[in-house]
Amino acid sequence: MTLKERDKKHLWHPLTQHKLHPDHIAITSAKGALLYDDQGNEYIDGIASWYTCMYGHCNSFITDRVAQQMQELDHVVFAGFTHEPAIKLSEALIAILPENQEKVFFSDNGSTAVDVAIKMALQYHFNKGGKRSKIIALEDGFHGDTFGAMSVSGLSVYNGPFEDFFIDVARIPAPTKANMPLVEDLFKKLLSKGDVAAFVYEPLVQGAAAMKMFDPECLNTLLAIAKDYGVVTIADEVMTGFGKTGKHFASLHMENKPDIMCLSKALTAGLVPMAITTCSEEIYSAFLSDDMSKGFFHGHTYSANPISCTAALAGIALLQSEEIQENIQQIIASHAAFDAKIRNHPKIKETRQYGVIYAIDLNVTIERYGNLRYQLFDFFMQHGVCLRPLGNTIYILAPYVITKKQLHKIYATIEKVLATF
Ligand SMILES: *Cc1c(COP(=O)(O)O)cnc(C)c1O
Repeated sequence: MTLKERDKKHLWHPLTQHKLHPDHIAITSAKGALLYDDQGNEYIDGIASWYTCMYGHCNSFITDRVAQQMQELDHVVFAGFTHEPAIKLSEALIAILPENQEKVFFSDNGSTAVDVAIKMALQYHFNKGGKRSKIIALEDGFHGDTFGAMSVSGLSVYNGPFEDFFIDVARIPAPTKANMPLVEDLFKKLLSKGDVAAFVYEPLVQGAAAMKMFDPECLNTLLAIAKDYGVVTIADEVMTGFGKTGKHFASLHMENKPDIMCLSKALTAGLVPMAITTCSEEIYSAFLSDDMSKGFFHGHTYSANPISCTAALAGIALLQSEEIQENIQQIIASHAAFDAKIRNHPKIKETRQYGVIYAIDLNVTIERYGNLRYQLFDFFMQHGVCLRPLGNTIYILAPYVITKKQLHKIYATIEKVLATF
C-alpha cells in the first residue's frame, strides 16, 4: 500500500471534508524552500507550511542546536522550575518586541496563545474590581479554533454547531482610510457602555481572510481610543510576527503599542509547536497580590519546552542576521517588480503587498473551499509549486531563504494559471 492509501485508514485531517477530498499528498522530506513527495516530485513551499518555516525547512543552524539541546534537557515542569532556554528566549524576545512588552507566558499553539490573552484581559479587569464581559474583534479576523479563539474569529465559515457557546463579541470592520469615520464612531459607541474588556486584532494583515490588508494610521488611532476607555489591546501576531511585514513585528509599524501580544507559527521556525503570549508590566502587575486567587491559574503541560525554546532562539538569531534581513528586502523588491508587471492583467481584480506577503485577487468569484479553488491548487502542485488559494485569492508567503530562481518559478506558474480559467 502507498502512503496515500494507508493515510485513509485511520487519519482524520484538519479542515477537510473527507468524503469530497479523500486524497492527501505524502511528503517524505523537506529542505530549504522545497518539499519532496513519495513519488519523487518536488514542490516549492510558497506558503512556508502555513507561515512557519520562514528560515527554510530543516535548516541545519536550527536543527544542530535543537539536537544538542535534546541531549541535555528534554523537558521539565515549568511550574516551580525554570531553565536557561526559557530565560534566554524571554530575553531575546523582549529585546525585539515593542518596548512596552515585559512578560512572557508560554503555551502550545496560536489558538492557546489567543485564549491566554483573552483570559489575561478578562482577569485583569476582574482583579482590578471592574468586571467586563465583552470583547471587540475585527470582521473577518481569524484567531484560531479553540473555543475562545474561535469566538473572537469573525471568519465563521463553518462555525454553525458552536455559535451558541461563544463568548460575547462585537465586531468592527478592519479600518481603512475610506471607512475610518464610520469605524471610529462604531468603536466609540461600543466602548462607551463600559463593558468592553479587550480589543483583539491581527495587526495590518488578516491572514486567513485571504491576506486582507488595512491601514496602520487608522489602527494606531483605534489603539489610542481603546486606551482612553481602559480597554486591553491584544495584537494577534501569530501570522504577522517575525519579519513578514518587513519589520520584526507588525505592531512596530504603529506608534501605539498593544498591551498583549500573541506569537506562534514562525516563533519556532517550523520545527516544533509552541506559542507565547507577552504582556506589559501594567497587565502583569494586576495579577500580583497576597491573595493567591489573583494569580493566573492557566498552565499547559508542555509550557516552555526546552527543545521548542531552543528552536525559537535559533530562529530569532537568524531573523536578526544580515543574510535573512537582506533576503527579506530582496523578496519585498521582487514581489513589487512582479506586481508592476502583472497587476493590470484582465483576470486580476486587485493585488496587494505588505512586506514579503503578496496577494492577488482574481476577477472571478470562488467559494472559499469551492471547486475552482481546488483546480488552481492542483494546477500549482502539478507545476511543482505549493500555493493554497483562499477563495479567489492567490497569495505568496515563502520562506525567507527562497532562491531568486524559485521565486521566479512561482511567478511564472501564477502567470500560467491565469490562462487556465
Ligand atoms: C494560525 C493562526 C492562529 C491559530 O494558530 P494555531 O497554531 O493554528 O492554533 C491564530 N491567529 C492567527 C492570526 C493565525 O494566523
